[in-house]
This record gives sequence, C-alpha cells and structure tokens, in this order.
Amino acid sequence: MAARWIDPERIESAIAALAGHGAHGETGVARLVYSPEWVAAQDQVAAWMAEAGLRVERDAVGNIWAYLDGRDREAAMVVTGSHVDSQNPGGRFDGALGVIAGIMALSELRERFGQPERTLAAVSLVEEEASRFPTANFWGSRAIIGRIAAEEPKRLRGYDGVTMAEAMRDAGLDAARIPEAKREDIGTFVELHIEQGPFLERENFPVGVVEAITGYRQYLVTLEGAANHAGTTPMDMRRDPMAGAAEIIGGVVDTAHRMGRPCVTTVGRVNVSPNERAVIPRQVAFTVDARSPLPEQRETLLARHEALIQEVAERRDLRLSLRVDSDRGPVRCDPETVAVIAAAAEAAGVPAMTMTSGAVHDAMQMAEIARIAMIFVRSRSGISHSPDEFTAAEDAAAGIEVLARALHTLAYRP
Ligand SMILES: [Zn+2]
Repeated sequence: MAARWIDPERIESAIAALAGHGAHGETGVARLVYSPEWVAAQDQVAAWMAEAGLRVERDAVGNIWAYLDGRDREAAMVVTGSHVDSQNPGGRFDGALGVIAGIMALSELRERFGQPERTLAAVSLVEEEASRFPTANFWGSRAIIGRIAAEEPKRLRGYDGVTMAEAMRDAGLDAARIPEAKREDIGTFVELHIEQGPFLERENFPVGVVEAITGYRQYLVTLEGAANHAGTTPMDMRRDPMAGAAEIIGGVVDTAHRMGRPCVTTVGRVNVSPNERAVIPRQVAFTVDARSPLPEQRETLLARHEALIQEVAERRDLRLSLRVDSDRGPVRCDPETVAVIAAAAEAAGVPAMTMTSGAVHDAMQMAEIARIAMIFVRSRSGISHSPDEFTAAEDAAAGIEVLARALHTLAYRP
C-alpha cells in the first residue's frame, strides 16, 4: 500500500492523548460537556490547532475553530469537524476522530499546498451526545445554526442537577452570549466520523461515503387501562395495558423487520405502573424510535406504526396518549460534495463504499445552513457508545487522507 499522507502512529497517539481527558477504565472515555475533563480536552485541541499553524478562535458556546485563511475572504468557508464530548462512558473514537482528522487534514494541506483559495476551518464542536443534559444534543452545532431557544440554558437541567447556564459558567462561558456563535459564512461542512455500524467491516471497506443521514421520529406511547387483581379478574373482563403494549411492541419491531433495510424500529424504554407481580398494570408507557434514510420508507413505516398503536388501543379499550418527542426527516448529502469525496478516495487508492447513516450527526444540523457530506471510517464489530469502540489507525489514516484530498478540491480550486 502507498504511504498515507498522515502517519497512522500519529493518529493513534493523538487519540490516546485526547482519551486521557476523562479516561474511563482501560479504553473508555467519560467526557461530559463543560466538565473539567471536557475543558482540558478542548484546551488540548486548541493547542494542537495552534501548533499546526492555524488561527484559533473560541466562540460564545465553546466551539473551537481553527482557520487556514484563504485568498478570497468573501467566499464561504469549507469546514470540517466533529464533537469532543462523549457518552457516559463511551469510546475514544466517537467524535474525537473527526476533530483530530480536521486538524491533521488542515495541517497537511497547509504544508503541501500553502494558502487555499477559500478559507478552510476545522471545528471542535462542544456537544452532540446529550449525555449530560438529556435534551441538549447538538448544542454546539445548534448554536452555529442559531437554533438554541433563549430559555434553554436556564431550562435544561443535567442528570447532575446543574442547569446548562451554570455548566457553561463553570467552563468560563456566558450563556447570554450564545446567539453570538451563530454563523452565516459556511458554504460546505464535511464531517468525518466512525461508522458505528457493521456495514464497512462486513463489506470489507475501510471508508464509507455517506449519501444520506437517517430521518427519525421518537414517540412516547402511554396506554392506560384498569389496575386489578391478577387472580380474580377474568381475562375477558380486563383492560390490560401490558397486553396492549406487548402487542404493539412486537408489532412495530416486526413491521420494521418485514419492511427490510434500511428502516429500523426500537423500543428501548418501558415504564410499568404499578409494576407489581400480582397486579394487572394501570399504565404502561414506552418509547418507539423509528428511522429510515429513505423519505418514502420512513413515511410508510411511521404510518403503519401509528395505525397499529391506534388499533390496539381501541380494540383493548385502553386510553392512549401518543406523544411525538422528536421528528426529523432524512437529510441528503450534497451530491456534488459526495462526488468530490468519492473522487478523493479513488485518488488516494482507498476503497470506499457509498452508504447511508443510521445514526444522527452534527452534519444533520449544519445541513440547515450549508451543503453537507460525511466520511465514515470502519468500526470494529460495529460497536460504538461503548469503551469497546475501536477503529484501526490504518483505516483512520485512509479516511483522513480522503478528507484532506476532498477539502483540497473544495477549497483550493479557484
Ligand atoms: Zn458522534
């Protein structure tokens, strides 16, 4: 194999150095947004950016930007980056690899080609995972697109009881200034991220070129019946929400299975009340998370789920509340940028597979203000959000070279 632009050993040591901030066990990381570990990680990132000869800037929400200024200062920027926070605990590659990739790519481009035509930026986004604040996800990218509501910093409370505004203050930031982080100068955003799924490994490709990011809808389904004695209430006289929940849960999972890839449906949380062995429950509440990157398939999937939920509740005489907690259509990557990435992979001699993303990413937020695309790098056994997450340094080097070559095409041509 030809020598990569970036030495895999350098990537390995950068990943290990960043993982030292918030280290959890042997290979895990617990780096929650605005915590002391997180501050240390962002400081480390800023130091690397400066060492690479880039102009470094911190914005009002805590994102760190590194610029390789272009000749044409009026032209929209070409930006790459990812997030530096982690699950609690998560692995050392999720987000972190994309941040390191951005710095290394810009540093390499600067050394090889000097000043670009358009300004290139690498960004280390503050928060993606919602691992400290349950509903804060995409805090960094939402600030950039101007989608943080004024009351959110005081309203959002973390699992530790601290509000977002307080957490920001602990990290030396002022929540009142969040609107200053909004930008309108980004033309293209390319995010490199670990795949977090099994496809690249199974198909034996080190790198994936993402064509679309999944759309999703998340429901909270609450079924209410009548609590009663488990021994004395005949089956035909029950209003049993557990029986209804079981039918719905089995049904939605089966629907997604029968409709086939790429749609997926998951019931990940169930609350039973009163949750007693000898009592027919009064209420069962559960989540349904349904996704597909194909707009029509998503619509069909959601319609079937909703019809089943209504039908079961009605037939079993259960009171139904069907709440939509989040809803987002699929996002298509910009076809031209996707083609640039595919060509970059070919030029680098990196076998790359086109694919969709079943996970959501910061790039999805950025799509509101910029053309977006994503580069995936193979995950071992498809494992992520776990200390067992692993990506080989050679695969990471292949991905970063594809990123650097794509950024070169996007930012250096007149
Ligand atoms: Zn991530």
